[in-house]
Amino acid sequence: MAATPRPSDTLDGAAWAAAHDELVELLRDLIRIPSVNPPDPPGPELDAANLIATRLRTEGLEPEVLEPAPGRGAVSARLRGDGTGGDALLLLAHHDVVPARVEDGWTHEPFAADVADGYVWGRGAVDMKQMVALEMMVVTLLARRARAAGLDPARDPIPGLRRDVLFTCTADEEAGGRDGARWLADHRPDLLRAAGALNECGGVSMELAGHRFYPIQVAEKGFEVFKIHVHGTWGHGSMPRDDNAAVRAAEVVRRMAIPGEPRLTEVMRRFLDGIAAVLPPDQAALVEAIGGEDPRRAEAAIHTLCDPMYARALRALVRDSISPDVIHAGVKYNVIPGEAVVEIDVRTLPGTTPDDVREEVLARLGDLAPHCELEHVIGRPPVSAPADGPLWDAMVDAIRAHDPDGIPLPAMVPFATDAKSTSVILGVPTYGFAPLRLEPGERFLERFHGVDERVGLDALQWGLPVLYDVVATFCG
Ligand SMILES: [Zn+2]
Repeated sequence: MAATPRPSDTLDGAAWAAAHDELVELLRDLIRIPSVNPPDPPGPELDAANLIATRLRTEGLEPEVLEPAPGRGAVSARLRGDGTGGDALLLLAHHDVVPARVEDGWTHEPFAADVADGYVWGRGAVDMKQMVALEMMVVTLLARRARAAGLDPARDPIPGLRRDVLFTCTADEEAGGRDGARWLADHRPDLLRAAGALNECGGVSMELAGHRFYPIQVAEKGFEVFKIHVHGTWGHGSMPRDDNAAVRAAEVVRRMAIPGEPRLTEVMRRFLDGIAAVLPPDQAALVEAIGGEDPRRAEAAIHTLCDPMYARALRALVRDSISPDVIHAGVKYNVIPGEAVVEIDVRTLPGTTPDDVREEVLARLGDLAPHCELEHVIGRPPVSAPADGPLWDAMVDAIRAHDPDGIPLPAMVPFATDAKSTSVILGVPTYGFAPLRLEPGERFLERFHGVDERVGLDALQWGLPVLYDVVATFCG
């Protein structure tokens, strides 16, 4: 039986090879722009937006460049469908990156975009200039479809598209998006509003027990940041006091750092069940223990089953987590501090409210609570999108078509992305789907914000037609 034809079948092998070469050169050009956040001085993020706009103009599109703050650029372009298929699909991305210094141990200069050993190396290779380039190539291929038919891709409906494809790439994701996605949500929601959005993080293969899974991000945790002001009594260091605010703060830190009780969300239940379903019984039992009632068995199972990189993520995904990350106390060695501040980063599962967090923190403070004041610094709720429906199906089908052994699964990530703006503020179901089929053993999660960030040429070559099929299927 012949396989069902995919939209990507309309291009032949030579055309995909040429598109891959273009993709790699585009990614390298993007990496060479040091669009570091925080920008010092501002400018490179606008340069990145301008480079993207220039490329899209050469394809006959009319991208709009915006500057939410001086030197910080966003760029957006729209391909039209014939309007019969519903609202647009948003291809969302950010072009800012976290800082990188060669002296931190990079094998390749972080902004040189070297190609070596089958990889493109450099800051942004996985977070997330690879997806910027993938999205731009999909937009480019669709625009060329219009031009080949003698149409104007900036105005005419693209042949085969029933919905618009909206591409929007922002600055400032790495610092919360105030001058990026958040600004657009508040000032230019038309550049984000859509029936659904594809963004960074999911769709990347993960090897476990000889199987290749593709977690698709349908949920991300929320965050609530608190300052705990700890009070004590000022005094002379020669006569120690047990109401020393630094001593109390140390105990506050200890209590906050204890891992909380696990709680399995619907997404994580489906994720773990999907993995358990294909493993041999002994390993499946371990996966089930991760989602079970007994926290000690769950921890033992995570320890046995997972490499430490995945274990840290998994522990964070089955509970609300608290990380005490800042401590301030003291003015001089011989002055007992009467004040201290502990800042905590609380990451919340879907279903946990800011009030729940406050209650949990107070409960942990216990007898220290009368000596502490809680100050809420910032917070954003968790995000989730449905793991069913036409966009979900298009992602699952594309993975299965391009990797018949691959197993797509709904998944959650422990951190925050620009989905906080599109999903929470505008109600756009936002998925992490930046498809890559990794080389076995590639320590992908450690590349994010790490040294020697890199992406495999083969991984990119696999991802481009996958993303193309998702876009063309959902919008076709
Ligand atoms: Zn990112």
